[in-house]
Amino acid sequence: MTSSPSLLTPQEEAAFRAEVEAFAREHCPPQVRAAVAANAKLHRAEYSAWQKALHRRGWSAPGWPVEYGGTGWDQKKRYVFEEVTAALDCPPQYHHGIGHIGPVLMAFGSDEQKARYLPGILNGEDWWCQGYSEPGAGSDLASLKTQAVRDGEDYIVDGQKIWTSHAQEADLMYTLVRTDASGRKQQGITLLLIPLDTPGITRRAIQTIDGWHHVNEIFLDKVRVPVAQRVGEEGQAWSYAKYLLDRERVGASAIPQLTQLLRSAQRAVRAHVDAARLPRGRHALEERLLLAEAALIGVRELAVKAIDDARHGRPLGSRPSALKLRCSELSQEIVAIGMDAAGPALASSFRDPEQQGGAEWLGDANWLHNYLFYRSKTIAGGTSEVLRNVIAREIFGA
Ligand SMILES: Cc1cc2nc3c(=O)[nH]c(=O)nc-3n(C[C@H](O)[C@H](O)[C@H](O)COP(=O)(O)OP(=O)(O)OC[C@H]3O[C@@H](n4cnc5c(N)ncnc54)[C@H](O)[C@@H]3O)c2cc1C
Repeated sequence: MTSSPSLLTPQEEAAFRAEVEAFAREHCPPQVRAAVAANAKLHRAEYSAWQKALHRRGWSAPGWPVEYGGTGWDQKKRYVFEEVTAALDCPPQYHHGIGHIGPVLMAFGSDEQKARYLPGILNGEDWWCQGYSEPGAGSDLASLKTQAVRDGEDYIVDGQKIWTSHAQEADLMYTLVRTDASGRKQQGITLLLIPLDTPGITRRAIQTIDGWHHVNEIFLDKVRVPVAQRVGEEGQAWSYAKYLLDRERVGASAIPQLTQLLRSAQRAVRAHVDAARLPRGRHALEERLLLAEAALIGVRELAVKAIDDARHGRPLGSRPSALKLRCSELSQEIVAIGMDAAGPALASSFRDPEQQGGAEWLGDANWLHNYLFYRSKTIAGGTSEVLRNVIAREIFGA
């Protein structure tokens, strides 16, 4: 397998791997690693514990430049870091701050916004969610209708967001609103930063098929937001949103996490399907595991190149869409293997995890919860149909 150019010599890479491994073993709380190994749903507490530990070490933002508190690591070093920490069952870093709004603020935010918000992302104190989608504006995001009307030094915001992940645990929401409806629908969209305790905001949980609480509706009723909370220019946020969406799609590839999931499925097959008693069943599952592993090697190569190009400002074309498409489908196949291995007995072990207190010890029952939850992987962040359209447009120039 080829990899992108690295500034690390093989000796430096080995030393760095050892350093990250020693740190992760010592500082990632054992209960957090156990939850990740069990494929349990993670909450703010688990993500935050790891983020705070990384922050103490100066590693809280591997992809950010040093001037903003990042590590300044090159792409290869970041990849090694993710690979080692995922192999030790450390959680992925919570993406809405570090991966999404942080980089947008660095690129388009004011100096005051950077000073106010970047430290809270780095140290894990501020938790963000993304208020983009609305009823009637998902794939066709530019049709969004939540309205912001200028009133002196404030905007007054009215409307509704939907499918807002983690809003029940978040402090702040970055959200797209319409400030002008007169032109093309991609024009007149503005990005606002809104604390979720602002008067006029109501959060309502959406019950999903897996029984866990992931997503919410957010109602905004005459919510007063200072103009100073606007990112960039009024009406220009479509380009900021696309900048963020590309990062989101590349990030969704999360190869080390897919590798973690695959390893876990391999363990499930070994633990549950007795090769002596069920040779054909075991063989069939092992074949699926091998195909998944081969696919993973392929997307890893695509991801490594895309991350490198993104870092150097080279155009990504439809690659973020291709990566998101392939990885979301692959993740569904891997959890399906885990569930098939754990077997039909899972149905009787399905229970309400929120009643159990969260990230918890459902053991093999997590395969069933995850199987159901991972149905959403080919919807959230761009549906597979829409991504295929993007790729086809690039190939056929339609
Ligand atoms: C678990 C989960 C978490 C999410 N988290 C967030 C979040 O944190 N913040 C946020 O803002 N949003 C979030 N979303 C919303 C997500 O981005 C949207 O669900 C997604 O963009 C699809 O939009 P939609 O649900 O309105 O479906 P629609 O766009 O109405 O699509 C319905 C169906 O029509 C198909 N379709 C639509 N347009 C086309 C087309 N042009 N060509 C072919 N087929 C098409 C779609 O593929 C789909 O099958 C989340 C969604 C889920 C499921």
